[in-house]
Amino acid sequence: MKRLPFFLSMQSCPRRCIYCHQGEITGTFRIPSPDDVEAAAAAADCPTEICFFGGSFTCLPPDRQKAYLNGVLKAPGGSTVRLSTHPECVSPAILRLLGSYPVSMIELGISSLDDHVLSLCNRGYSGTEALSAVERVLDAGFHGGAQMMIGLPGQSEQSSFEDLRRLAAAAKGRPLTLRIYPCLVLRGTPLEELYRKGDFVPPDVDAAALWSGRLLVLARELGIPVQRVGLQESETLGRSVVAGPHHPAFGELARAAELALTLAVRSSLGPWQVPGRSRSLLTGHRQYGLRLLAGMTGLSPEETGRRIDFAGDIGVYGNTPNERGIDGTLSWE
Ligand code: SF4
Repeated sequence: MKRLPFFLSMQSCPRRCIYCHQGEITGTFRIPSPDDVEAAAAAADCPTEICFFGGSFTCLPPDRQKAYLNGVLKAPGGSTVRLSTHPECVSPAILRLLGSYPVSMIELGISSLDDHVLSLCNRGYSGTEALSAVERVLDAGFHGGAQMMIGLPGQSEQSSFEDLRRLAAAAKGRPLTLRIYPCLVLRGTPLEELYRKGDFVPPDVDAAALWSGRLLVLARELGIPVQRVGLQESETLGRSVVAGPHHPAFGELARAAELALTLAVRSSLGPWQVPGRSRSLLTGHRQYGLRLLAGMTGLSPEETGRRIDFAGDIGVYGNTPNERGIDGTLSWE
């Protein structure tokens, strides 16, 4: 379905998370009005998914929410609305309101479920409260979304793996989709101050891609689909990143790491069968995935490449690479 996104940058957020500067991320500084949404919806020529991202939609006053949602109803029949919001603003009353509109997904900014991390990031709620919000969304029959982050202050890989396990347990097989975003240090944020004082050291691109790759492997094992890894690249974002794992193709690097981890578990020294459609994951970005796999196996990148058959199928496997202690080190340069 065609998608029409509206960015309500930091609208009605209960507080400012230390890493957030939505205007810098999305490149949009003017908040669209309900009239803007209605006009765009009415102009759509086919069923459209209208999305409200970048703020805390359900923290808006109810009348404002209704004004936006009524605008969505001007779109052609079969259109839907997807929104992202804050875990503190998903009361039963709000879910009842949303239930009277064609909502395709409610995405919650989860970031982390680790109380220490949440506190350092000024999220304002506990992991248990966030998990309850996810459960309320799913209990009400909505398709849920969880936006997780990696590389946050005080966060470890193990803590994010535990978050994912808790989310999967809460989902109990109900539809829950994941997004994974690396924490970047953006200009003008409290996190920038921490970084400049030396109180926060973000992971580099290699470490963050490998971390994300491990999360992808775990998500697959837990049956949680991941619809996106990495932020949408924009000119504004590129200009405002002060530090952190920023790469325009971060999602591809994470998928490459996922594949390399998968292959290393499948066979420590090859040969490996890889579908042709996945070739670029190993050979793209200066052979990032291939070099990562080589680092895990101890073989040279050339020898690793010789042991891959790009006409094969990797099939499924059962163990989690990060839990088996398989590591990958690779210098990005
Ligand atoms: S991360 Fe989300 S909840 Fe926090 S300030 Fe940004 S838009 Fe608001």
